[in-house]
Amino acid sequence: MISMTSIPRSIRRAMTLTRRAFLGTMAAVPVAPFRGAAPRFYGAPPVDAHALRSRIEALSIFGRPAGGTFADGVSRVAYSDADVGGRRYVIGLMKAAGLSPTIDPAGNIFGRRAGTDASLPLILFGSHIDSVPDGGNFDGDLGSLAALGVIEACDRAGVRTRHPLEMVVWAHEEGVAFGRGLAGSRIVAGDLKPGDIDQEWNGLKRADGIRKIGGDPARIGDARRPKGSWHAYLELHIEQGGALERAGVPVGVVEGIVSIDRYEATIAGFANHAGTTPMNERQDALLAASHLTIAVREIVTRDAGRQVGTVGRLDVKPNAANVIPGEVSLTIELRDLSTAKLRALAEEIRARAARIAAATKTTIAMRLSSENPPALATPAVQEAIERASTALGLQSMRMPSGAGHDAQMMAQLGPMGMIFVPSVGGISHSPKELTRWEDCANGANVLLGALLTLDRL
Ligand SMILES: [Zn+2]
Repeated sequence: MISMTSIPRSIRRAMTLTRRAFLGTMAAVPVAPFRGAAPRFYGAPPVDAHALRSRIEALSIFGRPAGGTFADGVSRVAYSDADVGGRRYVIGLMKAAGLSPTIDPAGNIFGRRAGTDASLPLILFGSHIDSVPDGGNFDGDLGSLAALGVIEACDRAGVRTRHPLEMVVWAHEEGVAFGRGLAGSRIVAGDLKPGDIDQEWNGLKRADGIRKIGGDPARIGDARRPKGSWHAYLELHIEQGGALERAGVPVGVVEGIVSIDRYEATIAGFANHAGTTPMNERQDALLAASHLTIAVREIVTRDAGRQVGTVGRLDVKPNAANVIPGEVSLTIELRDLSTAKLRALAEEIRARAARIAAATKTTIAMRLSSENPPALATPAVQEAIERASTALGLQSMRMPSGAGHDAQMMAQLGPMGMIFVPSVGGISHSPKELTRWEDCANGANVLLGALLTLDRL
């Protein structure tokens, strides 16, 4: 989410030191998952924090840069050899825990633990283990390995849930391969278009990639699950932003994954000689684009709230030093949990664009080019997460997710909730991504508590 190049070098160096020092000192220190006495949820002991940590460290070997350490992050892009190795490692852990892992035609890994009432739907929980290139060791890995830890904790105490429990490791979550994100969960949610698995990326056919990770492209449609397939879906994930750390709160209760509206704005001016055209006669499309960029910021920040707006792409024509820019196209991306709020912001931006056009003697056309509806977390699931946090003596706060997650696909099929734990410095999709081991363990225990709470509903 954050480009490291935008962070001053001095701070980057300080973060590196902090992280290395942190990892170095933690090596000898026992993990303390609880701030108070370890509570038990309906007889379940806490998730094994030591095992969780050692597995996150072991998984990081698959995709680690040559000669590197845990602190150097991971490149485990979906369908790569590293991805296959990491998946094999996790499948081995699942088997050792007594599960019989299955791989669906899309390549998603599932492991089921029976409940006492076979007529009840599953409680599904998990995350992903693929990464971006030069990514971190916590994005997805934490939620996947914590899911296994939760099942083991139930086994250790002989806890029988009413609903069957199912852990999942989603295939191909990051939008690196084939430019497609949430690919495995998307197929399960039924979002699969003809030709999708015929795509090619870096010389790899998607169908071959799916085969490589144990899926079956010939039966890809069978991966789809109907609405109501489960009682609830839960995902533990690192925040990937800095809100929890800033607030000093260890647990985030996700209210939903934000809606994303993208607008394509095309500004037409008049390309002319930069030396001979007087300033008052110019129709400078880039000048208009600059005003528009500032207007987006002003309009988005005028009211309190967590809405964000970005002009992140700009194409200037002819883009030459001695020519007044004649045409600019740019994207305006708006994100918030409320679609209505996004549309109201866009209307204000549109009105302001008309005034900017008049003042700069240009024309500005704005077109909605893509829209992603929000995926709202289910209130009962949010409450279960809050109750579990409170029982553990952990403060929690509600927050939106500005990043996409497999959970948004699962929201299309049934009740969904997500647990966030703090990202140090708000950094993610970087080798410097870091979540304290204590926060990892806390998140795993909140996951356990929340799903046992949901089991009683
Ligand atoms: Zn992730």
